[in-house]
Amino acid sequence: MKGKESGEKYPLEEFERFFDILAIRDESQIEREFKGIKFLKFSPIIEKAFLSFYLHKFLWQKRIAVLAGVSLYAVFGILDTVVMPEVKDALWFIRYGVVCPLGVLFLLITFKILNENVIQVLHLFLVMIAGLGIIAMIYVAPHTKSHIYYAGLMLVVFYAYTFSAMRFYYASISALSITLGYVFLDIYFVKTPQEYFIANIFFLGASNFIGLPVSYLLERHIRRDFLLTMLLAFEKKKTDKLNLKLRNISYLDGLTGVANRRRFEEYLSREWERAKKNKQPISLLMADIDFFKRYNDILGHLEGDECLRKVAQTISKHVRSGMDLVARYGGEEFAIILPETDEAQAKTIAERIRKDIEDLKIPHPLSEISEYITVSLGVATLIPRNNLNKEVIINMADKALYSAKSKGRNRVEVFNN
Ligand code: GH3
Ligand code: MG
Ligand code: MG
Repeated sequence: MKGKESGEKYPLEEFERFFDILAIRDESQIEREFKGIKFLKFSPIIEKAFLSFYLHKFLWQKRIAVLAGVSLYAVFGILDTVVMPEVKDALWFIRYGVVCPLGVLFLLITFKILNENVIQVLHLFLVMIAGLGIIAMIYVAPHTKSHIYYAGLMLVVFYAYTFSAMRFYYASISALSITLGYVFLDIYFVKTPQEYFIANIFFLGASNFIGLPVSYLLERHIRRDFLLTMLLAFEKKKTDKLNLKLRNISYLDGLTGVANRRRFEEYLSREWERAKKNKQPISLLMADIDFFKRYNDILGHLEGDECLRKVAQTISKHVRSGMDLVARYGGEEFAIILPETDEAQAKTIAERIRKDIEDLKIPHPLSEISEYITVSLGVATLIPRNNLNKEVIINMADKALYSAKSKGRNRVEVFNN
């Protein structure tokens, strides 16, 4: 939880989530938003994402800032005893009875309510209360000393514009209202000697004068950072998608849609190693269409291609998806990898495939053994041992296939020495 919230580095995946939630479909939409940066406002849809980004990025800074602010506010209690012992009780009541508890309460709330705008508004009130607290102390202080504490107002104003991580509008509302509040209360209630009062207004005015642009520029940079990161995430998502597509294409046989030879090699290597590790059997079937050259010669290559597709589809019906793999091994030869499958099971599957293809009843005018297209299959099963490599099982399946061919075709043969 903490890592996510403090998120110095906001994870790109979070942005990808935004794209889905906010239904952002093209990057030009994000580029248009760059115009909104200087007004500190995006379109509603992006603004929502920005608030979530801002909350994650600054939540911990806010908490630390509040903790630091409250601690400082508390530590100044020492000053009360030194500088204004005569009204210490009243000052301590304001400090420890009102402002500090409210600060702690706000701190706790930031763990409960994770809504950026709510936190900003509450922070704004907290800062205003801290400012009002100081004005109240100035009011309570003996008349001759009241000017001493006004510097505290400047600290609060600076806190609002910088460390607090309050966004520009919230920071300026709180700081300006403290400033105006001070002017108003001083004129009507505190009545600081005039020369002090005028000097205070100058200093407080200057604090705002410096603080306002700092806060504005800060938020501008953060908004730009947000958009750039969003663009980056968008690009990343696009490339990821493209990569996946390319990867899938590079693994497929263009004609039949089953896996290609490259995929076959990779998959067999992987499953071979896994079988070795788990001491499990692995089976390999090799299927070859009978008299296919003649079929092509008499009916043409297009018809031949169509037949290859049907055979590939039929074989694919007999495998467990996500576990077995059907691949086009060569011209009219298919290989079927069956992990965790023993010889008897593999033979059964091979037999089903053989029968299913025969049942397709694809007419074959020149087959010596049937009116229809048929296949021969070789079956090989092994529990791989350490010194064996995967070529062994390929050779075994090949030999079994050869045996099926020489024994008359349209049959299944299991490898044996
Ligand atoms: P056997 O029963 O002994 O397997 O005889 P066969 O004619 O099937 O074997 P052979 O290896 O002599 O012929 C394979 C034929 O497969 C050659 C070629 O016409 C055909 N072939 C290979 N690749 C393709 C392809 O991509 N499309 C088409 N249409 N035919 C192909
Ligand atoms: Mg062949
Ligand atoms: Mg053949």
